[in-house]
Amino acid sequence: MPRSPFRTRRPRTLTAVAAATLATALAVLSAPTAALAWGPGTEPAQPYAQPSMPTVPKRGCQSTVANPAAPTGATPAVQVIYAWHDGVGNNYEANVEYIAKVVDRIDWALDESTNYDQHYNFSCRTGYDTSTYAGYARALVVPEKIDAGANPNTPASTVRSDLVSAGYQDSNRIYLVFTDFASNSDAYQCPSGGNSSGVHCSAVTESWTTGVAGHELLHVLGAGHAWMAETGASYVPDIMYGWWDNWNTDPGFRSYYDPSELSASFYIDPSPSTAKVNVANHPMLTAPVCCDVGANNDLLTAEQRTVEAATPGSSTSTFTTSGGWHQVTPACGISTNSCTYFDGRRSVQLNTYTGPSNTSSISLTNRATVTAGRTYKLFTRLRSGTAVNTQLQLAWYNSGGTLLSTSTGATDTLASNWLEYRTTATAPANAASVRITVNVPAQSTTGNQAINLDSLQLNDCTANTAGTCRYDT
Ligand SMILES: [Zn+2]
Repeated sequence: MPRSPFRTRRPRTLTAVAAATLATALAVLSAPTAALAWGPGTEPAQPYAQPSMPTVPKRGCQSTVANPAAPTGATPAVQVIYAWHDGVGNNYEANVEYIAKVVDRIDWALDESTNYDQHYNFSCRTGYDTSTYAGYARALVVPEKIDAGANPNTPASTVRSDLVSAGYQDSNRIYLVFTDFASNSDAYQCPSGGNSSGVHCSAVTESWTTGVAGHELLHVLGAGHAWMAETGASYVPDIMYGWWDNWNTDPGFRSYYDPSELSASFYIDPSPSTAKVNVANHPMLTAPVCCDVGANNDLLTAEQRTVEAATPGSSTSTFTTSGGWHQVTPACGISTNSCTYFDGRRSVQLNTYTGPSNTSSISLTNRATVTAGRTYKLFTRLRSGTAVNTQLQLAWYNSGGTLLSTSTGATDTLASNWLEYRTTATAPANAASVRITVNVPAQSTTGNQAINLDSLQLNDCTANTAGTCRYDT
C-alpha cells in the first residue's frame, strides 16, 4: 500500500518483534497449548499497581448507536468486539464483563500515565441499561462470530476479513478485538482517524490484559515501539516495549505521546523512517486537559527535550554555554541527522577543554517554573568518546531572577553509549524557577572533549501520584 509519514499503516506483530530477546516475557502469548494461549493474563503493575477489578473506574459510553457496524455520523470512538468461532464456542455471557473491565483499565492507564486528563471515546450500542455494569458491558462489547475461524489457530487477518464482511470498517471507528481463541496479537497504525479504503484500523489481541491490549490499541493510534532511535535497539520503559510489566505511556514525553504540547510530534521508528506522531491528538481520544495526578509529568518543551529544531552543525539558542561552545551535533552520514542521538534525529554537543583548572557547562537557556518545597527530578542522556566527568545541576532562582542556591548531583564519568543520568532535589524557600545545567568540573582528564546531550526531562515529583518521581529508564 502507499506510504507517507502521517498515514503509515502496517501490521505490528507483537510476538514477532519480541520473540528473540523477550521470550520469557511472552508466557501469556506463547503458552504451550492452544487452550491456554488466550484469555486473561497477568496484568502489568509498573509504575504502580492498577486498581483492582471491582474498583477500576468505569469509563462508560461516549458514542451510542443502534447498529455498531453502521455508526453513520457518530462521534469518533473505539468499538470493542468479542470474537468467537465454533471451535471454542460462544462464551460471550461468561466473559463480557471481564473484557469490559480490561477496557476500563486501558482507559485508566492512559489517563493515569500523565498529569493530563485524557480518555478514550468508546462506542456502545443501544438496548441496554448502562446504569448497571452488566448493561454497560453488553452495550460496550459486541460479539462477532468469525465464520472462517478454526482451531488450533486463527490468524488476525482472518478476524479482520470477517469484520470487514460484517461491516465493521467505519471511518468514525477503530476496533479493539478480543479473541476467544488462539490468534496473534497485532495492529494497524491509523494515526489520523478511523478506517478508510483498504485499511482496517484495528487491534486484535488474544491476551485480555491492559498490557497487550493497551499496547496494540496504542499502535492503532499511531504509537511505535520504544526505540533507541540511532541504532534501532529496543528499550523497555513503558507499555510499548515492556507491556508485561508496564501499563504507562511514554514516560519521557518524547517517543509518541505528549499531551502537554499537541503541536509536537515524534519519530515513531528508527531512521530512515520519517513517520511522526503525537498520539495525544488522535480523534478517538478526548482533548487532554491539565492538570491532574498521574504517574508522570514534564516541565520542559518538546524542543528542550529533543533538540530537533535546528539542523546538525548549526547553533541553537535552546542552550547556553559557559567555558566552551555548543552546536547541534553535526552529521556524519545523513545530513539531516546528527552523527549521534538517542531520540528523534538530533542531539546537542558541548565542545570544551577539560583539565585540572578548567570548568565549563551547558544549560537550558530558559528556566522552568517551579514551586518552593516541591521535589524535582532531572533526567538527561549523555555520552562522550572520552571518560570525562560531568555533574547535573539544578540552580534555583527567586521571582526576581536572583540565584538562591544550586543543587549539584553526583559526579558521573561518561561512557560512549547513551546512558541516562538523573538528579533529584527540592526547590528551596522562595524558589520560582530553575536552571538546568550539565556541568563539567575541573578534573585530571585533559584535552578537547565533545559531550552530547539528548532526552532531557524535568519531573515534578510532588505532582505525581503518591509524590513519586518518574522511575529510571
Ligand atoms: Zn507492538
